Amino acid sequence: MVFTCTQCGQCCIYLGDYIVIEEQTGPYTYACSCVSTNTPFQAVVDEDKRNIFNNRDFSALHPHACPFLRPAGDDRIVCTIHNTSPAQCKIYRCVAVRVYSGDTMVGYITGMGALHSNDSGLRALYESCVSDLPASDEERDSWLSGFFKTHGYRTE
Ligand code: SF4
Ligand code: SF4
Repeated sequence: MVFTCTQCGQCCIYLGDYIVIEEQTGPYTYACSCVSTNTPFQAVVDEDKRNIFNNRDFSALHPHACPFLRPAGDDRIVCTIHNTSPAQCKIYRCVAVRVYSGDTMVGYITGMGALHSNDSGLRALYESCVSDLPASDEERDSWLSGFFKTHGYRTE
């Protein structure tokens, strides 16, 4: 199943130590660094999000959030530099494969290929195959789906 981001903002809410503003270079432009990859980047606040970016209440309430994260005014919490965000932000998926036992979701594979689960059987299964996983994300996701299915799980 194709992953659909619901823009809940949860993946960015503790990234304030990783996406760092070094200097404001214009009204809506910032010299930044992505600390995890030691990569500098220029952030430009998206034109259609400048109004919500101007409100700093969210950042004050969530000091560990990415400094570009803002509530959109509906149920979404959005990135205000979508057009200029770092590459790893653009490709991030919190969930790549959901794993079910019957109708109950018992775990999921993140976009980075990690298993999140409390199901000891599923964890053991994942550990047993982790060295065989294909390198590409797409192949890995379908390989894991097939592998889990042959062991009685259902995936989406
Ligand atoms: S990637 Fe996942 S956690 Fe992040 S905003 Fe989208 S749905 Fe939420
Ligand atoms: S730059 Fe955007 S996508 Fe990346 S962590 Fe910040 S709010 Fe999230």
